Amino acid sequence: MSNSFIKLHDLHFVPFISENEIVKAIDKVSDGLNHDLKDKKPLFIAVLNGAFMFASEIIKRFDYECEVSFVKLASYSGTETTHEVKELVGLDQEISGRTVVILEDIVDTGNTVEVLAKMLEEKGCSDYKIATLFYKPEAYTKEVAITYTGIEIENRFIVGYGLDYNGLGRNLTQVYQLKSNNMTNLVLFGPPGAGKGTQAEVLKQKYDLVHISTGDVFRYNIKNATELGTLAKSYMDKGQLVPDEVTINMLNAEVDKKPNAKGFIFDGFPRNEAQADSLAKFLETKGTEVRAMVALEVDDEVLVQRLLERGKTSGRPDDADEGVIRNRIKIYYDETAILKDYYQKQDKYFGIDGVGGVDEITQRLSNVIDTL
Ligand code: AMP
Repeated sequence: MSNSFIKLHDLHFVPFISENEIVKAIDKVSDGLNHDLKDKKPLFIAVLNGAFMFASEIIKRFDYECEVSFVKLASYSGTETTHEVKELVGLDQEISGRTVVILEDIVDTGNTVEVLAKMLEEKGCSDYKIATLFYKPEAYTKEVAITYTGIEIENRFIVGYGLDYNGLGRNLTQVYQLKSNNMTNLVLFGPPGAGKGTQAEVLKQKYDLVHISTGDVFRYNIKNATELGTLAKSYMDKGQLVPDEVTINMLNAEVDKKPNAKGFIFDGFPRNEAQADSLAKFLETKGTEVRAMVALEVDDEVLVQRLLERGKTSGRPDDADEGVIRNRIKIYYDETAILKDYYQKQDKYFGIDGVGGVDEITQRLSNVIDTL
């Protein structure tokens, strides 16, 4: 499944159902139809526009004699059901006494299938079945039986595989759902050794967020001897920053791996204004933003002692040498600390006393996050 977010008109959508799952669901519906209707010479009536893709697949898979027709009866406008159902156009076959299969892309409140069922009955058809690719059981309020269902989904707005949002998205071969806009994206900030990694581990569990530590991603690449790792190592060993272009591309790729995240904890990123600008632009393309920078404030000498202590067990070369540690802290003040102003100007900066027990500091961070 393609993992990318997409934008249609003003809204963002995230991948929801893969093409593979859709094909399996169509096969299942199709097995049912072949089994039940082989001698019935059914008339398939596909409801336009949304059902065209589903209908085509179903009709291709039907192994016996059948007829095909298309009708139009729109009930959607925008992302809300309008409750007003328009007239039926396109049904010119005689249907009295026949077996009819209505092919729907999605059954939501059931307004459309109810109207269709009434119209078929008025025209003398009593043997009709509804086959739908998607079905929202929570939204359905009608009596008409839905005989064949491909995939049951929660009450979410979806696009793709024939379904649209204001005209766009019908050509997508997998299904996307509307992305909610309330992602909690946090920049966890502070000098090296402030405890960002430790707190990120706790916060990601507590708030169900995805933690991205650029330092960890670099170390992972170094361990696996990737090209990126080799490049990053030369900078990291000296306590210098890896070039922005490399870091930014890597960060963006990490975000793109988690299209369904409720939010991210960015740890070690951004580290300068260019990275902060890039992050803002990148998140904007996904319809979201940085909600807050939460900064752990710790005195320098405490940091040096903590990092030297951590270096005894962490195996990190940049923790083992006091000169490299001091260089990292210096770079933090020279290049990174200005981001405090950057986020302060947007009313997004929250400084937190980073000295104390782990639980105590988590509580201080939570006090801020809970107000966002
Ligand atoms: P950390 O684990 O966050 O202390 O990062 C360790 C090292 O990885 C840093 O000293 C840099 O060499 C590199 N690094 C991590 N994040 C970034 C970033 N956002 N920009 C540039 N270099 C980074």
